Amino acid sequence: MGVFECGRKGCNNIMCDRVPDEHGYICGDCFNELVSLGVTVNIELFMICKPVNTKESCSYYNEIFKKKGKIIMRVEKNSKIYTVIKQTEDEVLVEDEFDFEQPPFKRKIQMWWSLKYCKIIKEE
Ligand SMILES: [Zn+2]
Repeated sequence: MGVFECGRKGCNNIMCDRVPDEHGYICGDCFNELVSLGVTVNIELFMICKPVNTKESCSYYNEIFKKKGKIIMRVEKNSKIYTVIKQTEDEVLVEDEFDFEQPPFKRKIQMWWSLKYCKIIKEE
């Protein structure tokens, strides 16, 4: 068995099991990425673009398309009701439920720092 290096720029995979064409070999990862882009892709351009770093692009798009957090409780502070949403282990989002004038104000707070001054109305 020889070494069949992926012909894509920046890809270090060496076990390509597809018959090479004018673009050279392509590894399974790059092939799957190419397939996911659809059939209108310029293969030559694709072969000179670095492979996607899935982890990096995942954290990039996670910031843009945030996952809905889990509502953990409703609290009252200064006669206003807030919904407390747990986003991650140490990130909590507080939404003002009664501010209809503007989109709900959302702010990240450090875990529990301001909640200790709130009255818990309902734990979910
Ligand atoms: Zn590759």
